Amino acid sequence: MATATLSVDLEAIAANWRALDKASATGVQTAAVVKANAYGLGLSRVARCLAQAGARRFFVAVTEEGVTLRQILGPGPQICVLSGHMAGDTEMVADLDLTPMLNSLDQVTRHLESLPGHAFGVQLDSGMSRLGMAEAEWEAIAPFVLEAGPELLMSHLACADEPDHAMNEAQLAAFHAMTDGTGVPRSLAATGGILLGAKYHFDLTRPGIGLYGGRPYEAACPVVGLSLPVIQTRQIAAGEAVGYGCTWVAQQPTRVASLSGGYADGLPRSLSNAAMLWDGDTPCPLIGRVSMDTITVDITHLPHIPRSLDILGPNQSPDQLADVAGTIGYEILTGISQRYYRRYVEGGK
Ligand SMILES: *Cc1c(COP(=O)(O)O)cnc(C)c1O
Repeated sequence: MATATLSVDLEAIAANWRALDKASATGVQTAAVVKANAYGLGLSRVARCLAQAGARRFFVAVTEEGVTLRQILGPGPQICVLSGHMAGDTEMVADLDLTPMLNSLDQVTRHLESLPGHAFGVQLDSGMSRLGMAEAEWEAIAPFVLEAGPELLMSHLACADEPDHAMNEAQLAAFHAMTDGTGVPRSLAATGGILLGAKYHFDLTRPGIGLYGGRPYEAACPVVGLSLPVIQTRQIAAGEAVGYGCTWVAQQPTRVASLSGGYADGLPRSLSNAAMLWDGDTPCPLIGRVSMDTITVDITHLPHIPRSLDILGPNQSPDQLADVAGTIGYEILTGISQRYYRRYVEGGK
């Protein structure tokens, strides 16, 4: 089989959740963010593992993800939808008991008119200018919205991965100004915010990337491995070229391995002539361009023909691969292909 294997260590995900739960101040609830198919790792197994570890509240990006998650988790855990209550969502929100985080007056109106008495939260914009109500908009409707009984007021930090960035304090102050005295539970911190310290934690934290072993949570247990099968190998002579555009030319006799996996599987084309793969602890350079379904690797120095090479694993984290590609670990993880075979590693292994 030429399908690459993505291994996901569920025990590590559970350990990361417990550690971030511990890092969240006492009395603070720790949720779990599982949007985008649990950052590419597979919603079903990951969400059940987090529920078992103790997570009682989950965040997804859109209502359809919430529907899928409810079917996985069954009744009980709270499922919050970050994009709020969009036109067409009402029946799903009601039938599957989802909690939309309302982002605008439009959404507030839609929610309170279509589902009076149904749980909701409010997302506020404390300076990122992405989702949520801005200060002036919120001030104008806060009394009316608070009257309807939101169960959470939340906002999101733009620069939490840079602890010294002035934006963190500025957003903290803005969030206080918009929410102090409301008596409603509050949430500001994702993974980065948890690491900024207790004054960012409020009543609930919302870690995502840290659960999956990514920066800025440097202490995380590693979670993913990705192994690409070798389809064939060939010996080429000095002067022969490899791959589209002939961007790599052998300087000496070279053994080239062609591996199953390419940009259609979420391996960025910017890894061309730049990334390293691993045979155990031995690095093997990616040579030539990443193509749609295939990459080529120099294995001249290996004493054997490997069955597969690792592109993610103990020697290369998603963040390290992202550094080579000029992106972030989040993008590497969420780009990971549906085409890969996912192997879940559970406790004790
Ligand atoms: C994605 C997201 C999170 C999780 O962020 P991480 O950096 O992955 O921990 C939390 N809150 C909101 C609003 C988000 O969009």
